[in-house]
Amino acid sequence: MDLFQQSISSLRKQLGSGEICPADILDSLATSIEAKNEAIGAYLSYDLDAARDEAKTVDLTLPLGGIPIAIKDNINVKGQPCSCASNFLQGAYTAPYDATVISKLRAAGAIPYGRTNMDEFAMGSSTENSALGKTVNPHDHTRAPGGSSGGSAAAVASHTAIAALGSDTGGSIRQPASHCGVVGLKPSYGRVSRYGLVAFASSLDQIGPITQNVEDAALLLNTICGSDALDATSLDQNVPDFTQGLHDGVAGMKLGLPKEYFGEGIDPAVREQVNKAIAGLESAGAELVEISLPHTEYAVATYYIIAPAEASSNLSRFDGVRYGNRAKTPADMLDLYRSSRDQGFGPEVKRRIILGTYVLSSGYYDAYYNRAQKVRTLIRQDFQNAYQDVDAILAPVSPNAAPLLGADKDNPLQQYLADIFTISANLAGICGISVPCGKVSSDSGNPLPVGLQILGPHMGEEKILKIARAAEKLG
Ligand code: GLN
Repeated sequence: MDLFQQSISSLRKQLGSGEICPADILDSLATSIEAKNEAIGAYLSYDLDAARDEAKTVDLTLPLGGIPIAIKDNINVKGQPCSCASNFLQGAYTAPYDATVISKLRAAGAIPYGRTNMDEFAMGSSTENSALGKTVNPHDHTRAPGGSSGGSAAAVASHTAIAALGSDTGGSIRQPASHCGVVGLKPSYGRVSRYGLVAFASSLDQIGPITQNVEDAALLLNTICGSDALDATSLDQNVPDFTQGLHDGVAGMKLGLPKEYFGEGIDPAVREQVNKAIAGLESAGAELVEISLPHTEYAVATYYIIAPAEASSNLSRFDGVRYGNRAKTPADMLDLYRSSRDQGFGPEVKRRIILGTYVLSSGYYDAYYNRAQKVRTLIRQDFQNAYQDVDAILAPVSPNAAPLLGADKDNPLQQYLADIFTISANLAGICGISVPCGKVSSDSGNPLPVGLQILGPHMGEEKILKIARAAEKLG
């Protein structure tokens, strides 16, 4: 097997024994990127020469020593562009510092070398909202990779990256991982520092790994998690070695099946694959328990009030004065703000800013934003109640396999509705992982991957990784 096709753990073994050196991995990766990136479009930019320089001095005894990692384009890596796939920042902003996850990766010997495509400012579920280019699904080039971390998922799936980081505000790690047939982990809120992640919705955002297998997800989580003085919402508790106990199996575990997640609206072929994985976990010794998450039906509406509200506030910093695009020859100060924003932001970002500003405005704040916060509490309580009886919850990731490119072009609401199975985890602050569980056939004849989603309680990553590993073993 070529080096570019191998997992972190396999490469680490060969680096450790001296069979290969980091430059060999980068050379192999370069061949793969050059051969495939034009067709797939996973990267916005990469710099393998700089990576080769870094590789010369890397300490191979470190846990990720010599491993190149692709980074979603909303995470700051000092000296590299950070555009959030937006015209606002493209060509106009170079990261002046490392995000905490990047400092941690570097301290573990990893090399961040490339920027992956995404929906503009992480708003979307297909990566088609990128202002900077198209990413296709490596399994079928007429289909979207999912989003918003579609570049990271497509890079790992096409073996143009060994592993990647993404961010998940409402499903943006798990959903593209599911559509591309790779593993995607959204950590619990507070597990990973958000310092240096360009904020979309601060109470929902988390950075997490997108990898070829569950063990690599555990390895990356080991490195990036932990409390951080630079992010007051990062938590200092229970930071185990996530690779320990990974292979313990699911015997004796109680796994909940929320009835609201298996009703109408799921493609029957997707449901069949998810059910097959669930049956496999049962044969491996897990006990299945039917549960209810009664406020699920309000999750999409709640998320699409809270996320745009926070986005409208976070994106107010893009004003033409401090960052990125600045309108030429504005008539006055107000016109500078207005024109810079009008030119810089794409249609979905504008839609969210307008929606968010509306729900936060005087007179509507109580009716929309405040009420959404109350429903958010009910959604969180649904999960807390469920975890009294079960260790983790099993669910689909998305009602469908990867959509055709352009399928939701004129219907953003349709795309919002497809987030139904992923956004509750962000509203509740819990952790979730998508692990490939099968394939469905499509009209175009290419089998499309489907993911099983495992949702764990807050700070329950050890459990969901163990279950994901058991699911992965089912094949
Ligand atoms: N699809 C959701 C949205 O558009 C989630 C995006 C994300 O997780 N970044 O907001």
